[in-house]
Parts: sequence; C-alpha cells; structure tokens
Amino acid sequence: MPFPTLRTWFGPKPSTALPAKTKDRSGLRVGIPKVLNIWSTHQFWIGFLKALGIPGENIVFSSDTSEEQFREFGKGRGTVDCCYPVKCMSGHYGELIFGQKKKINVLLSPMIYTLPSFLRGHVLDTATCTRVMAGPENIRAGFQKERDVFAENDIIYASPFVSMGDPQMVPKELYESLKDVFDLDFEETRRAVEAGYEALENFNRRMRAKSREILTWCARNQKPCILILARPYHMDPGIGHEIEVNLQTHGYPILWMQYFPIDDDLMNWLFGPDLRAGRIRSPFDISDVWDSSYSSNTNEILWGAKVAARCPWITCVIRFSSYECGMDQPTYTPTQKIVEASRTLFFKFGDLDATKPAGSVNIRVETIVHYVEKYSQEIIQRKLAWLPEPCPLL
Ligand code: SF4
Repeated sequence: MPFPTLRTWFGPKPSTALPAKTKDRSGLRVGIPKVLNIWSTHQFWIGFLKALGIPGENIVFSSDTSEEQFREFGKGRGTVDCCYPVKCMSGHYGELIFGQKKKINVLLSPMIYTLPSFLRGHVLDTATCTRVMAGPENIRAGFQKERDVFAENDIIYASPFVSMGDPQMVPKELYESLKDVFDLDFEETRRAVEAGYEALENFNRRMRAKSREILTWCARNQKPCILILARPYHMDPGIGHEIEVNLQTHGYPILWMQYFPIDDDLMNWLFGPDLRAGRIRSPFDISDVWDSSYSSNTNEILWGAKVAARCPWITCVIRFSSYECGMDQPTYTPTQKIVEASRTLFFKFGDLDATKPAGSVNIRVETIVHYVEKYSQEIIQRKLAWLPEPCPLL
C-alpha cells in the first residue's frame, strides 16, 4: 500500500529554477471592447494576455466610438441605460463579433470593480462607477436576448469581475473566471497578472515623463498649456469629440490629468505650502476638498483641479462630461471653484453626447483661445509668485 507521506517527501518536486511552461495559446484571438475604463487599463490586459502566450497581433481592440459603428453593429441590441458611454458599448461588441476579417475566439469585457490609481492609499477607495462595473453584463444581455449570438459565432464571452485596485485579489479573481476560457493554472495566472501590472506601470510612467517634458518646455519658455479634466473614456474621439485636439492646433499643448507627472520634486513644490500649513497629509490627499473619496475617476478629477489651481503653466482647464452623468453632477461646482480660486481659466463641455458639439465647438474653441491668449501671462506670473523657489522644472 503506498504511503502518501513518503510520496510527498521523496517524490519529484516541481522545479523552482525553471520557469513553468506556458501552454500553446498562440492561435487564440481575443477581442476587447475599447470602452469605459479599458481606456486607463488597456496595458494591463495586453501584458496579461501576452504573458499567457497570446501574441500581440491576436489581441484586437474595437475602433473608436462612432455613430456608424453603433448603426452597423449595435443597432437593435441597445440597452435601457441612459449613460452614453455604456450605451455605445453595443457597437463595440458588435464590431468585434461581426466586423473582423479574422474571427475572434474570445470576447473579453472585464467588469472592473476597483481601479489602480496613483491616489490609492490617500483616498477612501478607488471604486468604479457602478455603471462601469455593470456595463458588460448590461450589454451582453442585448446579444443574448433572442438567441445567443456569441454561441452562434463560436465566440466565448468572458467577463471577469476584477478588483484592479487590489492587486493581491486579482490572480484569484482572474483564475476563477478565466480558467476554463484559457485553460489556466493558478501559478501562470499569477505571473500573468504581475506582467499585466508591470506593463501598465511602465506605460503610465512613460506617459507621465512625456507630460513632464511638456511642462518643462512650458516653464522654460514661459508658455501656457491646457489641462483636460475628464474621465478616461473622454479620450475616445467618439465620446470627447476631440475638442482638445482642436485646441492643440492653436498651439497650446494639452495635458490629461490622468498622466500629470507625480514626481516628488514637483509634488512637493506644488503642494509644499499646503503640507507645511497642515491642510493635507500628502500631495495626493484630497480630503480638504472632497470628503467622500470612494470613486476613482471622481477623486482624480478633484485632484486634477487642485493641481491646475497651483501649477503656473496650466492657465486653462477644460472639463468634459457625458449625458447628465450623476457621478459628475456633484463635482461641477467644486472643481470649478477650486480651479478659479487661483483665477485659472475654466471651461466646461457638459452633456457631450446630447449636444454633439461638432458645429458649435469651433466657436467655443475660438473663445477659449482668445481668453488663453489674453490672460495666460498674468496667470503664470501670479501663480509663480505664490510658489517657493526654486522651481524643479527650471
Ligand atoms: S461616470 Fe457617468 S458617464 Fe461614466 S459610466 Fe458612470 S454614469 Fe456613465
């Protein structure tokens, strides 16, 4: 009779020196709808899937949002949701299912519950909007209400619930929900999650370094730039209408709050006076302006407003929001007040999907440009006078 104990003690042990083999997944094609917080986490998913052996060229994102995309691929599969960034997801799903030359095998649309954020640890939580989290389920229903479109097209629908703000939870969550989809074992899932976070951090670091280059150029040349305060999916031209691109053509560099440089020297310069006065505990503390700091993108918008109020070369802030977003509504007045406290220019484009500002945007952009031209030098000098010397960008 075999003694299990002896087998355990003396049997062959898994080698720790050699990396475990990855299964052959090189033939799999994975489609990811480019919606909602995929706009801020895409690099994680690329890093994760590549580490599982799926080649980069087999990871397919849907195109930017457009009316044609919705008409061609999403029509008839709409949702009762009034939030436009959620509603437009059906066009993205449809494009991945029906609009690919080479069919995808898996449609991966994660239900993201919490987000990785540079504010994590300084705020109460980094949860997503409930619609962001539930959006995939909502849209999936539209593709299964009469018959199962995924099954008909031989596509596996995968929608892992994932707490991306808690990296220690993620391997278990992704293993549980994706093990049958990709034939995973736990250890390779854990390694792939690590690779995903590494890819995301590298990307964010590169983007912040680029923003720092822009700010340095502005500081050395005493030129203004414009900061965009918006949710990550407003980078999608179909949702944000490329208003910032339009402004950039007038010669004003654009920074997105999500990728503002957060190096110690710059943070201490901008927030040093508040820290010394005991108003905040760290440069990323927003409790002085926002008590209920649970929602990740909202927290970052409030933090971005504080940065804009202090940073001399940000002479103008543009705020975007979609439909009558209930998450954004309570933040309009505080963000505007924070930015304008230092008499930095503030302009808001609200209800973007309903107003479809294509016609009016040029007129508004001209107005903004007029004010930026007229007041920027005064704003730069005023804010510089409040800040300690020396400036780390000079
Ligand atoms: S934050 Fe607003 S716009 Fe974004 S998903 Fe939620 S409800 Fe929609």
